[in-house]
Amino acid sequence: MNKKRILLIAVLCFLGACANTKSLKVNHQSVHHEFGESVHEKEYEDTYVMNLIYPKTDIPTLDEEIQNIIQSYKSDFLAQPFVKSDDRYEFNVDYQSYIKDDRYISVKMDIFMNGTSQKEVIETLIYDQKKERFLAYDDVFDQDATAVISAMVQEKLKTQYPKECGSKAFAIHTAPAAHNFDQFILRKGEIVFYFDEHTVLDHTTYVEVDYDALKDVISIEKEEESVFVPYQDVLNEPVKQIDKDKPMVALTFDDGPTLKYTSAILDCLKENQASATFFVLGSRAEDYPQLLQRMVLEGNEIGNHTFTHKQLTTLSKENIEEEISATQESIHAVTNRYPKVIRPPYGSKNDTVLQCTQGKKLVTWTIDSEDWRSRNAQTIVNKVLKDVKDGDIILLHDFYASTAEAAIILIPKLQEMGFQLVTVSELYEYGKNDAGKIM
Ligand code: ZN
Repeated sequence: MNKKRILLIAVLCFLGACANTKSLKVNHQSVHHEFGESVHEKEYEDTYVMNLIYPKTDIPTLDEEIQNIIQSYKSDFLAQPFVKSDDRYEFNVDYQSYIKDDRYISVKMDIFMNGTSQKEVIETLIYDQKKERFLAYDDVFDQDATAVISAMVQEKLKTQYPKECGSKAFAIHTAPAAHNFDQFILRKGEIVFYFDEHTVLDHTTYVEVDYDALKDVISIEKEEESVFVPYQDVLNEPVKQIDKDKPMVALTFDDGPTLKYTSAILDCLKENQASATFFVLGSRAEDYPQLLQRMVLEGNEIGNHTFTHKQLTTLSKENIEEEISATQESIHAVTNRYPKVIRPPYGSKNDTVLQCTQGKKLVTWTIDSEDWRSRNAQTIVNKVLKDVKDGDIILLHDFYASTAEAAIILIPKLQEMGFQLVTVSELYEYGKNDAGKIM
């Protein structure tokens, strides 16, 4: 416990001695400031004192909401008629903050007002850093949760406060209804439910429940597990407007996906409403299901670049088939669709390779950016732009920072030059030419 905290409690105890010491109960939990920097604001006026301690998290949405809460209570406090008395009126805010799984930030604020009447309120916020939004009761718990939480809260409070638990208010405020349990925080080891004064008990109180005890009714944990399950439904791909009479080229990215560079390229494609084809390795597909799903959802094409990137011409027919089909399956497992195009590593092909493509198109390229050689964004851009023409298939690799940088320049630039950026299959579909297609 730090000095300021001790001082604060001392001040509260002193004031509390004149009024109601029960209001201090909630402050008996030890201080936790796991996230954000503490900001202290003090105001001493003739008629009132304010002592505000709250977190600054550097997450704008969260900081703004914390301010909203404080300002709303502060204006209530200042709106009351100040009757001259020996004790100045008091407005006090303190907080605890927690972080769980490096993702969920919980802030619990204790708001205490002592003026014409005394009031203590608890406010809780849970912010999901991954989804960049606040989580409410329904985001965290299943429909069946209220019954489980109600039973646990009742059981724990009955042990702690056997006398008070017979009241009608207790029954009402611990009944299985979501609004009874919508003030809670996610700590590392447990969920803590808070109850305002004059609800369950006369004073504020809380109940800690282990995640284990709630594991069947928490949806955030399940969601974590289910995010990457294969799609059962066909994804809805965007409807595109492609003008067959206007020039078009296909950007292709091999050897990925990679988290950083593929994401950056996808961001840029999306921003410019452009499409590309990603020839992914089967061995990487299942490691990045989210990226593959995103490719499809945003109108890009996924091609087969074999499972282990071996030169197919050196393999037996059986091994070639295995390389291709294992990749088809791993892409299907996460996107619910089979690639229609195959690009053999190094563009190497022979009759055996052609026999193994089973009706899928074998695709090479017409412009080699040689991005793997230069590793320089401007060199890559220049090489592509030098002789790009209608119907070209451009070879790139979403494997290098320089290629991602180059793609971010090339995508709007090619559009500016009048090219529509389409997938390889679209290029064929719109009959531009058979560039890079072997069969
Ligand atoms: Zn490759």
